Amino acid sequence: MDEVEAIVVGAGVVGLACAYELSRRLDSVAVIEREIGPAREISSRNSGVIHAGIYYPKDSLKTRLCIEGKKRLYDWCEARDIPHRRTGKIIVATSSEDERRLREIARHANDVGAGELRLLSGREATEQEPELRCALALHSPTSGVVDVHELAASLVREIREADGAVVYQTAVHTIRRSKTGWIVRTEDTMGRQAELHAPRIVNSAGLSALSVAEKSGLPAEERPWRLYPCKGSYFSLGPGAPPTRNSLIYPLPQGGGLGVHITADISGARRAGPDAEYVDRLDYNVDESRAERFARAVARYLPAIRPEHLTPDYSGIRPKLVGPGGGFADFVIASPSSQPGIVHLIGIESPGLTAALAIGAHVSKLMG
Ligand SMILES: Cc1cc2nc3c(=O)[nH]c(=O)nc-3n(C[C@H](O)[C@H](O)[C@H](O)COP(=O)(O)OP(=O)(O)OC[C@H]3O[C@@H](n4cnc5c(N)ncnc54)[C@H](O)[C@@H]3O)c2cc1C
Repeated sequence: MDEVEAIVVGAGVVGLACAYELSRRLDSVAVIEREIGPAREISSRNSGVIHAGIYYPKDSLKTRLCIEGKKRLYDWCEARDIPHRRTGKIIVATSSEDERRLREIARHANDVGAGELRLLSGREATEQEPELRCALALHSPTSGVVDVHELAASLVREIREADGAVVYQTAVHTIRRSKTGWIVRTEDTMGRQAELHAPRIVNSAGLSALSVAEKSGLPAEERPWRLYPCKGSYFSLGPGAPPTRNSLIYPLPQGGGLGVHITADISGARRAGPDAEYVDRLDYNVDESRAERFARAVARYLPAIRPEHLTPDYSGIRPKLVGPGGGFADFVIASPSSQPGIVHLIGIESPGLTAALAIGAHVSKLMG
């Protein structure tokens, strides 16, 4: 049986970031991924936004790892020429209730250290963004966008340069205890099974992380979590859509998501999304008939938008730890006492892309 010093299950950006950190200090790290390449699930189905860390409770992992991850991510991209842009973002309030909430968000963001945020009057905001309807806006200068595929490719490259392995088309089936660590049984797409031994395992399986935790024999009483898959669809903005100058225009957070926002990705392609729809199966089709609802949501701050400006694009599914109306849930980064050497990453939804490099450093430290 092959032996390595650490195995990471899942080659999304978070698993890769963990493997990268581990490969800097261990001689042999293996990432096992069931898909044909890196970042094929949640990591390639998101807004690609580098978040500032504005919304989450002060002492949460989401705040700490987002703010630290944002810095690490910008440094990483600058050092390696990964396409990214510090575009800034504006959050818009369109009613007096929104205004009150936005002022609270601004106070909170300054309190947690999410960057030098500035409130803009409705007039200042519309001078910047003439098509906008808004009573008050909050400008976050440290938000930005990143090319997630280039980011993932750079992580794979660096893991391999450090003599780590990234293996695709191979699924982790079971994880069982040995005298000195853990035995991971895998099966590739040709049906070939293999076993790999390691004293350290990182379960970074995204939407399947709970099922991998179960497969590792973690007792039910030590996995009190449940995942509520929450789909977010995107529509692309066609040529007739109202022009926008800012790359990132957000309403206030609502319904388990950040609200249907407008993003322009690294190539300048504009999209509206994602919405938040709790689902019981993983189906990535975008329902064309949602265009009306999307147009209504966006029209609250960009009144000239029409359903015919919107074309179904892609969707992603969030591994949420709470159901509809369930409130805040933090990232779970668990190293159960009954499973020395294993770390489970559960519920790594937004801002997981931004936080990835900080999560990697945190997990590597936890593993000792
Ligand atoms: C709609 C949406 C919008 C978002 N927008 C943003 C944003 O703008 N900014 C931001 O910071 N975050 C955003 N996020 C969150 C961010 O995308 C995720 O937090 C992050 O990509 C999670 O990465 P991951 O590596 O944990 O998961 P994944 O990318 O899903 O990786 C998990 C991997 O594990 C593999 N796997 C699963 N089971 C097994 C197994 N048994 N054996 C082998 N491999 C296995 C899967 O194939 C997958 O590749 C968004 C998420 C969604 C859904």
